[in-house]
Amino acid sequence: MDEAKSAGGLTLPRRRLLLGAGAGLVAAPFVLRSSLAFALGKADPFTLGVASGDPAPDGFVLWTRLAPDPLAPDGSGGLAGAIPVDWEIAEDEAMARVVSRGTAQADDRFAHSVHVEAGGLKPGRPYWYRFTALGARSPVGRAMTAPAPGAPLDRLRFCFASCSNWEVGYFSAYRHMAEEQPDLVLFLGDYIYEYSHGAGQDVVRRHDRPGEIKDLAGYRNRYALHRTDPDLQALHAAAPCLMTWDDHEVQNDYANRWSEDMDVPPADFLVRRAAAYRAFYEHMPLRRRSLPNGPDMRVYDRLRFGDLVEFSLLDGRQYRTIQPCAAPHSRKGHVADPACAERTDPSRTMLGFEQERWLHDGFKASTARWNVIAQDLLITSYAQKDPKTGMVGHWTDGWDGYPATRTRMLNAVAESKVSNPVFLGGDIHSFWTTDLKADFDQQDSATVATEFVGTSITSDGPSYDLFVQTLPLNPHVKFFDSRQRGYVGVEVTPGRMETRFQAISDRRDPHATVSTLKRWVVETGKPGAVPA
Ligand code: FE
Ligand code: CA
Repeated sequence: MDEAKSAGGLTLPRRRLLLGAGAGLVAAPFVLRSSLAFALGKADPFTLGVASGDPAPDGFVLWTRLAPDPLAPDGSGGLAGAIPVDWEIAEDEAMARVVSRGTAQADDRFAHSVHVEAGGLKPGRPYWYRFTALGARSPVGRAMTAPAPGAPLDRLRFCFASCSNWEVGYFSAYRHMAEEQPDLVLFLGDYIYEYSHGAGQDVVRRHDRPGEIKDLAGYRNRYALHRTDPDLQALHAAAPCLMTWDDHEVQNDYANRWSEDMDVPPADFLVRRAAAYRAFYEHMPLRRRSLPNGPDMRVYDRLRFGDLVEFSLLDGRQYRTIQPCAAPHSRKGHVADPACAERTDPSRTMLGFEQERWLHDGFKASTARWNVIAQDLLITSYAQKDPKTGMVGHWTDGWDGYPATRTRMLNAVAESKVSNPVFLGGDIHSFWTTDLKADFDQQDSATVATEFVGTSITSDGPSYDLFVQTLPLNPHVKFFDSRQRGYVGVEVTPGRMETRFQAISDRRDPHATVSTLKRWVVETGKPGAVPA
């Protein structure tokens, strides 16, 4: 996407949004927007910013949600009835050369969100967009189209992120991602957390609604709260995104139709899942094919960027078998006893057999130079200690709870000879670089793919001291650090992939700085990262 670079990036909207970041938190978007509505004394409907997603060669999805009262307790955003929302797409950031425009309807059904599937655009270049509704104008966002299928692409720059717990820190990592002006941003889960900290717990800011959210109004409120954050607004305005989810978009450690609480019947849990998935759809730049149908919603997807990169975006939660060897009365992840035979049962699945087949077929069909599998969890096998008993075993809620799916997936990688497979993940609130092995029990086994996991934007990391004790048992793990918060920056060229582990100075500081903790290189044709 070199053309994008030469086009100069995002100056006007970025300046506005970043000024907002410096000027204070929730109030900034209201103060800085010199909209007509504001002049008329009406509340600004664009309090949640704008976003774009799912770039294709001819277009992308544009998103906004009208919410003059973003945290209204009923989740309505302070609006009722159908409201027309005009959108326009321009070739320049000043919005002078408009190339496409239209009108979408926002209504109560989807909380006055709009999802515009723009088409008919030129491949491989940036565009700028904005919305107008209720006499007000939104900030300008920057989107990109993907290059034409198979077209030569010299470079793709993207960032990936996971685990942004509102209460324990400010979103400085998101601000620094926005400042990189990447071509694409991947959100790999735990974009929100459904629970809240208790009154006595040490937090930097509180959720608007205390306690655990369980209904549609609650999930809407939680997403809206996050989107009032100027750093997150700046990131969504700066680049298109791909989205998947992990557990906290619904409930900690849920699996398919099973709550972590064994006393909740699956039928009841599916009512909650339907509310959570619907609110996710309403707040993300997703295509119509992701429209929720009750408790079901498709998020796994595949995107291509010219001849250079193919992304397979996975859903690790919706279709999985129940976790193995649950320890009543909770299905919460735990270190399973090595005697747990259920864990390795090949009839169990992490992705669901349909998604597994779709993924393996994709490996066979791909012609891209780099094949990135973006998903929610740590992939590698990791023998770890139970913090209470000291027993060494494997964690049940992640890929280690579903090793048969992992073996099938890595076998499919090896058999298909898919070019340069790289797996990305989150969830574990720590940085990891690993060699994904054909057989994790044989250390001379071939490395079939490379893995990078990013730390949390803000969420608490796991115990560093506990995890380093078991590193010697896991020689395929090349790097682990749980002591920083941040994100990962990636630059892909035909010959190599360069990865930066980016750490922020202090999650409690709304103006935290960023530095590079570690750099990695993957050379084409050689699975496994090496320090840069
Ligand atoms: Fe998390
Ligand atoms: Ca998680």
